[in-house]
Amino acid sequence: MSSPHMGGKEQDFVNEAFKTNWIAPLGPNVNGFEAALENYLGEQSKVAALSSGTAAIHLALILLGVSKGDEVLCQSMTFSASANPVVYQGATPIFIDSEPDTWNMSPEFLEQAIKDRIAKGKKPKAIIAVHLYGMPFKADEILEISKKYTIPLIEDAAEALGSTYKGQKCGTFGDIGILSFNGNKIITTSGGGALVTKNAKVKEQAVFLATQARDQAPHYQHSQIGYNYRLSNICAGIGRGQMQVLDSHVGLRRKMNAFYKDIFKNTSGVTVFSEPDPHFFSNHWLSCITISEDAPFAAESIRLALLKDDIEARPLWKPMHLQPVFKDALYFGESVAENFFNSGLCLPSGSNLTKEDKQRIINVLDAFITSKR
Ligand SMILES: *Cc1c(COP(=O)(O)O)cnc(C)c1O
Repeated sequence: MSSPHMGGKEQDFVNEAFKTNWIAPLGPNVNGFEAALENYLGEQSKVAALSSGTAAIHLALILLGVSKGDEVLCQSMTFSASANPVVYQGATPIFIDSEPDTWNMSPEFLEQAIKDRIAKGKKPKAIIAVHLYGMPFKADEILEISKKYTIPLIEDAAEALGSTYKGQKCGTFGDIGILSFNGNKIITTSGGGALVTKNAKVKEQAVFLATQARDQAPHYQHSQIGYNYRLSNICAGIGRGQMQVLDSHVGLRRKMNAFYKDIFKNTSGVTVFSEPDPHFFSNHWLSCITISEDAPFAAESIRLALLKDDIEARPLWKPMHLQPVFKDALYFGESVAENFFNSGLCLPSGSNLTKEDKQRIINVLDAFITSKR
């Protein structure tokens, strides 16, 4: 569905790390990868390279002061890694439904949740909004609410490196942004993530916490609990090579989206997930479809038809408020996210799919569509 796609220069950076014996969670590749990301994101971004996107969300929560007993508002339709770090902090996630245009956090239900919690004397400590499948969330509306109620925004851009909203790069909208370089993301370091901030002190704090919170002293001295969350110089070498092909990967993923639009162009009942208007530019990390209720087939039957030919497709993210582990969590919304989950499918979207791969996909989908006419 979305496999690692090397550009060619990654190994040179890794070899350089071996040659110079920088086999550590620091070194020239870490600095070089951070600089490449800062340059790419613009907006005076400061980037701390970390061991995962999950670690970045965890540190973001700590840096925003989220602790035991606090409440954090989180988009329900997302990967569990958006919400889990809230629980690591002993805080409680409250889940928010999606809106239908971008599938991301609904500004209306967000505000409804904030009003409800404030009325009950529990002002939420942070908001976690996600650019799902690379589609930017409604940043103007979400930021306005974040400012109006002075609740900081953590921007989960794990899936959205290369996406923009009104020309601004995703990852740069939140008080803190986070990125992921897991193996399935648009670029990968085999495993890795980053924290994005405009504040050099926040970056410094993130690196401090990510390297076991060591105070300035010749001996090991600690006045805070630290973490081992820094990215290794080896993995960062892969990242430096991947940054050289990021824009090309965005172009190829977007072509996959166009590929599916073409396949389904005459099939009523199938909608390929697309930007609602030109302000939104998605990297189309994954291409997704939704099947309308009156269609003569369900998303699951498409998944099974593909699987029969050994082609992987997957249901959309199951909303967090429907997950057994979060069954007691508060939820504000209706059934927008739930309906997407029930009617949608993620299709093979990798930037490295070959002509033959694509022909196989066409063959299966064309035969499926024809059989349903
Ligand atoms: C991948 C992902 C993460 C977590 O990133 P890791 O690097 O795998 O820890 C967080 N949020 C979303 C939405 C993701 O897709």
